[in-house]
Amino acid sequence: MAQVQRMSRLMIKTLRDDPADAETLNHKLLVRAGYVRRTAAGIWSWLPLGKKVLENVSRVVREEMDAIGGQEVLLPALLPKEPYEASGRYDEYGDLLFRLQDRKGSDYLLGPTHEEIFTQVVKDMCSSYKDLPVILYQIQTKYRDEARPRAGVLRGREFQMKDSYSFDTTDEGLAESYRLHRGAYIRIFERLGLDHRIVSAVSGAMGGSASEEFLAPAPAGEDTFVDCPNCDYAANTEAVTFVATPGDASGVAPAEEMDTPDTPTIETLADFLGVPASATLKNLLVKVDGEIVAVGVPGDREVDLGKLGEHLAPAEVELVTAEDFVGRPDLVRGYVGPQGLEKVRYIADPRVAAGTSWITGANKEGVHARNVVCGRDFEVDEHLDVVVVEAGDPCPRCGTGLQVDRAIEIGHIFQLGRKYADIFALDVLGQQGKPVRVTMGSYGIGVSRAVAALAEQTADDKGLCWPREIAPADVHVVAAGKALQTELALGVSEKLAAAGVRVIVDDRAGVSPGVKFTDAELIGVPKILVAGRRSAEGVLELKDRRTGEREELTVEDAVARLTAQG
Ligand code: ATP
Ligand code: MG
Repeated sequence: MAQVQRMSRLMIKTLRDDPADAETLNHKLLVRAGYVRRTAAGIWSWLPLGKKVLENVSRVVREEMDAIGGQEVLLPALLPKEPYEASGRYDEYGDLLFRLQDRKGSDYLLGPTHEEIFTQVVKDMCSSYKDLPVILYQIQTKYRDEARPRAGVLRGREFQMKDSYSFDTTDEGLAESYRLHRGAYIRIFERLGLDHRIVSAVSGAMGGSASEEFLAPAPAGEDTFVDCPNCDYAANTEAVTFVATPGDASGVAPAEEMDTPDTPTIETLADFLGVPASATLKNLLVKVDGEIVAVGVPGDREVDLGKLGEHLAPAEVELVTAEDFVGRPDLVRGYVGPQGLEKVRYIADPRVAAGTSWITGANKEGVHARNVVCGRDFEVDEHLDVVVVEAGDPCPRCGTGLQVDRAIEIGHIFQLGRKYADIFALDVLGQQGKPVRVTMGSYGIGVSRAVAALAEQTADDKGLCWPREIAPADVHVVAAGKALQTELALGVSEKLAAAGVRVIVDDRAGVSPGVKFTDAELIGVPKILVAGRRSAEGVLELKDRRTGEREELTVEDAVARLTAQG
């Protein structure tokens, strides 16, 4: 038997107006509908309805993790610093880490994620290959002192995460644990009703499926990704690669210089010549491990320094400063061209392909050159995809113009390999009687963030609108106000609960029917059952929260209908 939650007793206060500090839909609605309350920046209290939704998400996560053989544990959130010092993350995390001391002055931290501690637990508990593979998970409070806690529970400084870790003796084993998680995540997000895309978390250059992110498209999201409207291609903006087509320069006249006074920027140059920026070649100078390198991209495109950095890692990429031009007459600021740049390594975007012709700097103050052809007048040392992706860029799979959209990262799966096993010397005795180093995966789902993502994706102009599996109840029964209506509403609520249907009933006295309907829509339970006008005949009105479809039903039919939904 399910429970009846009576609004007259439920601790809830709905608000008509958005909280002043709220910018995103989920933040506004979860506060207004009485699911959460802000305690401090990025720190939230979950009220009765919010706690139910959070529990429902956790239940789905738990069921699917159990289904792949995951074993649930609960490790501490308050952690000694030593394991994090051993891994180097005590320093690497910097300001993101909440640090504290105990009464004796020993250092502690509040766990941001738990690779170190899980590795130690497995080292403690498992000694033979027979103990592996093992998948351990927890649903736990995590702490990160985020620079910009925002968007309500979407980015908290205290938040709920499901984190799991797999331990295997072989690379094939790790691949299988990863595959199991990937499948479980797809089932979890499908059951939650979250529209999502799986994108590679590493750049195309590194490739592979060693790390993937699950993104829930939503305007409030902080990640941008590209999505093909034609095929199923989706990728992180940094991971998109452009497929180059060579140009035909057979008819292009020889390169020639032209006076272009006061045109040190692409904008001034395009203006002066009356050509589109895309006809010009922009040459950005950067320092790679201290050495000056030129990066050529079409004049209408921006260089993505993050992408460039990833391509060149572990080398350090920095922008040049005025000092770097001292003693370098070959580098004429604002008028750099790849032709005649002998002492400088030249990296170019694939769009600067062999046979393409450009207007570019002539390496003399106030002078540019035209008909400068790639492969004829200059050579590219290395082609790297380094421009910021833009909407309309061709899909690498089918060529259709890509869309650039925003999304919320709701999950991340990652083949860690032996990084932490090496740090903590995590070995088990192998089949041959020799120690074998263990290989690991780490997998996260933002449980509280998933609530925010669901709210973002499903809400409409009236309020929240949960999928049934996640909603705080299956049906919201509204008693219009008269004693007879309240009696009918409570009666049908008891019958529904007895049949296993989860019910909220608005039995509040002295609250107008209008307010009750508005609240029901704001709270967002999928079905609304009203004891109104025809209560004397025992007839109720059943309304679908999403479609607004209504029908009149007797008590028996209403119970049958709502039970049958299963
Ligand atoms: P982000 O880039 O959004 O900060 P992350 O890359 O730091 O995320 P992970 O360390 O991979 O995230 O954590 C696993 C999951 O935990 C993320 O996919 C996300 O769903 C969730 N998560 C991370 N940080 C937060 C936060 N501050 N508030 C709520 N959920 C979070
Ligand atoms: Mg983060």
